[in-house]
Amino acid sequence: MRGYQQAQGGREGCARQPLPADCPICFEEIVEGKGVDFCRVCGHNVHCDCQQRWASAGKSDTCPWLWCK
Ligand SMILES: [Zn+2]
Ligand SMILES: [Zn+2]
Repeated sequence: MRGYQQAQGGREGCARQPLPADCPICFEEIVEGKGVDFCRVCGHNVHCDCQQRWASAGKSDTCPWLWCK
């Protein structure tokens, strides 16, 4: 099936969710191209800064979305 939308970034493992989306940590909108990271398991987006804040709070091994573990 040609024309199937490729996962952005070309990573394997999960399908990145479409943008824009709401950040689970700061609740602001996430837009493409501004330091966006995403969960490798569920594919939901998060700001890189927020992800680092989350990680520095000792929760780096949990999903910021709390949807996967
Ligand atoms: Zn954020
Ligand atoms: Zn996740």
